[in-house]
Amino acid sequence: MSPIIFCDFDGTITLEDTFISTVERFAPDVARRVLPQIYDLSLSLQEGVHQMLEAIPSADYPEILKLAATYQIRPGFVELLDFLDERDVPLVVVSGGIQGVVEAVLGELRQRVQGIHAVQLQTHGTYCSPDSEFEGAGEMVNKLAVIEHYGEPDWILIGDSVTDLKAALAAPRVFARDRLCGYLTQRGVTYEPFETFTQVRDRLAQLWT
Ligand SMILES: [Mg+2]
Repeated sequence: MSPIIFCDFDGTITLEDTFISTVERFAPDVARRVLPQIYDLSLSLQEGVHQMLEAIPSADYPEILKLAATYQIRPGFVELLDFLDERDVPLVVVSGGIQGVVEAVLGELRQRVQGIHAVQLQTHGTYCSPDSEFEGAGEMVNKLAVIEHYGEPDWILIGDSVTDLKAALAAPRVFARDRLCGYLTQRGVTYEPFETFTQVRDRLAQLWT
């Protein structure tokens, strides 16, 4: 058995949805218009995230990275990584958020994850420009394409919101919190609810004995 864990970042590894707070702060008008449409699924993530990130002046990027230092990691994340290490189970971070922010928040923990796939923010123009090697199928980061890239049929998704929905619908097992629970409940999809990574670890320990 060699499963892979694919874990969202904003609102999953971080306590708050740090991507949403970033766009609300640095592109408030566009975020106010676009976010409700993303949440009710009337606007694709690909289109919505482009609109929000392209409204952020490149000059704000250092401030965005500086704020990352204030973001808190959800309790139990290191304990989950310890547990997965003991079992040789890799964890891959798959995020529709900003790669630089993910890396800044994880800091030394970057060495302990198998990979980080998120949105690269280009800042050579007046406004930011998002770029992702896995952009497509209506998503800025097509999580299912990332997962297929790893080619492991036995995988688990951990997530919290709309960016996780398509992958969650295809996942053999899902740990969900916040909005993702609502989307899955509406569709009759079962999931493991969680609030801390300690709960995820304990549940995996139970499943893997
Ligand atoms: Mg999230």
